[in-house]
Amino acid sequence: MTDSSYDVIVVGGGNAGFAAAHAAAERGRRVVLLERGQRDMSGGNSFYTAGATRINHGGFDDLKDIVDSDERHDRTEVPPYSSEEYLADLIKVTDGKTDRAMAEVLVHESQDAVRWLHGLGLKYRLMYERQAYDRPDGTYLFWGGLHIGNVGGGEGLIADHTAVAEKLGTEVRYGVRATSLVVEEGRVVGVRATDETTEDELELRAESVILAAGGFEASPELREKHLGSGWSNAKVRGTPYNLGDMISAALAVGAAEGGDWSTCHSVQWDAGAENNESNRELTNRLTRQSYPLGMIVNREGERFLDEGADFRNYTYAKYGREILKQPGSIAWQIFDASLRPMLRTEEYDMPGIGVHQADTLDELADAMGVERAALGRTVDAFNASIDRGVTFDPTVKDDRRADVVPPKSNWAAPIETGPFYAYPVTCGITFTFGGVKGDLNGRVLDQHGEPIPGLFACGEMLGGLFSGNYPGGSGLAAGMVFGRRAGAAA
Ligand SMILES: Cc1cc2nc3c(=O)[nH]c(=O)nc-3n(C[C@H](O)[C@H](O)[C@H](O)COP(=O)(O)OP(=O)(O)OC[C@H]3O[C@@H](n4cnc5c(N)ncnc54)[C@H](O)[C@@H]3O)c2cc1C
Repeated sequence: MTDSSYDVIVVGGGNAGFAAAHAAAERGRRVVLLERGQRDMSGGNSFYTAGATRINHGGFDDLKDIVDSDERHDRTEVPPYSSEEYLADLIKVTDGKTDRAMAEVLVHESQDAVRWLHGLGLKYRLMYERQAYDRPDGTYLFWGGLHIGNVGGGEGLIADHTAVAEKLGTEVRYGVRATSLVVEEGRVVGVRATDETTEDELELRAESVILAAGGFEASPELREKHLGSGWSNAKVRGTPYNLGDMISAALAVGAAEGGDWSTCHSVQWDAGAENNESNRELTNRLTRQSYPLGMIVNREGERFLDEGADFRNYTYAKYGREILKQPGSIAWQIFDASLRPMLRTEEYDMPGIGVHQADTLDELADAMGVERAALGRTVDAFNASIDRGVTFDPTVKDDRRADVVPPKSNWAAPIETGPFYAYPVTCGITFTFGGVKGDLNGRVLDQHGEPIPGLFACGEMLGGLFSGNYPGGSGLAAGMVFGRRAGAAA
């Protein structure tokens, strides 16, 4: 069945695909968006997010007309986050490997892209529960450059995007898996797809095709091939549909590979809960992000990373792989009774959470299956090495170190008051960093650096921005900035 009634075909109904579709539809283009998931399984990784979106801004006054009102606003401090700081963060966490030109576009256009989407109907708010500390005097201080998020998290983001698409006249076709690209005389002129409901084979034709079908994180085979041995053991945090279909389809018509194919975003993820993959009810609640306050040990009862190296926004996306490397790909986050009330409620009070609780460290070790003496040695050395003269302050990098190997550089607090808690964590993969190579308008480039006529890409499948690590909230920002650009050019 061939259908030629569109100007633009978008493949993938996540944040990037919708942003591209809106930008094209606003220009009067007839747009169809093909989404592999049925409606109740749609939204891609974007559905699973907390909606946290990293944008450049000049402080709270600059955000007031974007965020929904909240009675805490008059007691809230939001430090500015300039484009220069954003760029410096991208360079820092990627060890200088970010594509400089793409990064410049992202940091300068992120606020504008949010304003554009807000104008279309997306709703934002300040993320008190994740990105602010409530101070003893009842005021709130935001930290870490990541301050706003979608109302209703990822679910709200996708619901808002879907409503905008409807308003702009974009046709969204669910349950359609794109399989390959149609090329005529060197130009991409359409997409072949399977309607998985009717099993019909489709051929859709249009002037431009925008690929926004995610990375290859849900494919155990591609993970083993590109990320390395052991990566098939990682748990998939988000959609099961990002199998790299459209990356392969683009490479098959001559696209060049872009970005870092050997690393990815991965986090500490509940190893004990049932149904800990692609869980649409718990989504991001399965992550365990209060580790900068505590201590992490492996099955040998040993520490292996610096829990307090930086604010969690700058370390969380690289620590999943450190857990994957440990024996059995498992570790435990340990806290004592004085730290437990400081842990993020939405994560550590999750229904069905994997946790061991015990009155003594020996009992805790037994519950974890770790040798008592080994855990005791690690905790004793850690506690003894802390300079308690330095004030513990989670709102700043407080320099309160544990001088052990590896060190804990900030927020070192002794594990000494029962009851004690151990949260089992494994590696949860979020998304892959490698994809296709594009120019700054998302035009897909061939091996010679020339655009392939008619073909665009955005979101996770456009490589270049991230490598090794990632500043929290920049995935959604990148999807909207480069999705908007691709939709405006298509
Ligand atoms: C649990 C979790 C929490 C996260 N939290 C945040 C956060 O708070 N902030 C942030 O910035 N980032 C976050 N991320 C990362 C973020 O989700 C991604 O960077 C971003 O959503 C990618 O958007 P995208 O549109 O490129 O891909 P996706 O949202 O994954 O969309 C890709 C779409 O393509 C579809 N698709 C795939 N193959 C085909 C095919 N062959 N045919 C048709 N359709 C296809 C998929 O079904 C999917 O809907 C999180 C990710 C996860 C998994």
